[in-house]
Amino acid sequence: MVFESLADKLQQTFKKLRGRGKLSEGDVADALKEVRLALLEADVNFKVVKDLIAKIKERAIGQEVLESLTPAQHVIKIVNEELANLMGGTQSRIVIASKPPTVVMLVGLQGAGKTTTAGKLANHLKRQGKRPLLVAGDIYRPAAIKQLQVLGEQLDIPVFTLGDKERPVDIAKKAVEQALSMARDIIIIDTAGRLHINEELMQELKSIKQTVRPHEILLVVDAMTGQDAVTVAEAFNNDLGIDGIILTKLDGDARGGAALSVKAVTGKPIKFAGMGEKLDALEPFHPDRMASRILGMGDVLSLIEKAESNLSLEKAQELQKKLRKEEFTLNDFLDQIEQVRKLGPLDQILGMLPGMGKIKQLQGMDFDEKEIKHIIAIIRSMTAKERRDPSIINGSRRKRIALGSGTRVQDVNRLLKQFSEAKKMMKRLQEMQKSGKKGGGFK
Ligand code: GDP
Repeated sequence: MVFESLADKLQQTFKKLRGRGKLSEGDVADALKEVRLALLEADVNFKVVKDLIAKIKERAIGQEVLESLTPAQHVIKIVNEELANLMGGTQSRIVIASKPPTVVMLVGLQGAGKTTTAGKLANHLKRQGKRPLLVAGDIYRPAAIKQLQVLGEQLDIPVFTLGDKERPVDIAKKAVEQALSMARDIIIIDTAGRLHINEELMQELKSIKQTVRPHEILLVVDAMTGQDAVTVAEAFNNDLGIDGIILTKLDGDARGGAALSVKAVTGKPIKFAGMGEKLDALEPFHPDRMASRILGMGDVLSLIEKAESNLSLEKAQELQKKLRKEEFTLNDFLDQIEQVRKLGPLDQILGMLPGMGKIKQLQGMDFDEKEIKHIIAIIRSMTAKERRDPSIINGSRRKRIALGSGTRVQDVNRLLKQFSEAKKMMKRLQEMQKSGKKGGGFK
């Protein structure tokens, strides 16, 4: 999970403070020393850490504590606000031109995730009702054009290409004309990267910038490269000028140094974060919510947004009906698991829930992705009849199912037990609701 070790350390530090009624200056100084170390270990830029700690110290020691907060809560609130400020405060959206098409140009080094991000961004905008056009401007990396075409096909979004013989600047220019004639309102230009920043790359990007005058130049950088990503961002910003940053592979970045320093160092905000290889794994970047996630306070707002854009209302209603009629079967159980999985890897989802640190420590709770895959495999190895009526699953059937799903009989037993308990619980809930309607005790 992103920021995992930083989150663990900060949460431990604040746990120590929570036990105290009163905090002395010394207590706060000790806690801030630990915060400083945790940030440095998370690979946050040295100067950024120094400034941040100074700000937090000034506020934590200088201010009156709000009456509604304990001193520890007060310090946590300040750290939360300052972490959010560090990353830009609130969300920075992309600019949409008053007269279409809006031109977005993606730049960055090879392997940063530019082409994938072009697809993800187009998908994100399409879901918001826009009509994007993808433009294949990376004529150097073998297969980059094909890669974009495949993405376009998957997303049902047109891709403009002139092959690899025309100059990128001409491709970009013609793409804008094409967008107008196709009534596409936003164009996303995938440009060529290089392994390192060089003069040729910058010249090419500058000439595209001068010719098509993009509304947004977004730099795609790989979060996993830590401070190198920050250096790359600084160079692109100084040389070409950028409007914002898309930080990719944040899902694999346990430290989070780039995410925390890049805005402070370059002055340019992170606008989106890539959270996985799939085409829906791009999230608008909310500094305030990210700060809450780091401090274990959860990010329920993002979770709700994710659910709204991924879950089907129809399915939810159908499920309710089944529950009412007590027809909930293993098929529905499978359906439900798959719906939740659409939201993304489980550890990412759990990271959005407040108190995740505590949940992880609960004994017997295993939120392993592998375990979920087992459950799905087990249910898929059952016959339709077995899924409808698990009571017929005797010893020999259990053996067959375990063999078919590559699991053990114990795993099959555990799943059946879990399912029967879930069903019992649902029945109880239904009864409580019914009696509640009749004016009973359950409210
Ligand atoms: P480009 O050279 O900049 O166009 O890079 P690509 O778009 O080809 O991406 C390079 C690799 O990074 C591919 O394997 C992508 O699947 C992967 N990638 C891109 N974004 C993300 C992300 O947010 N998370 C993860 N885990 N992988 C990503």
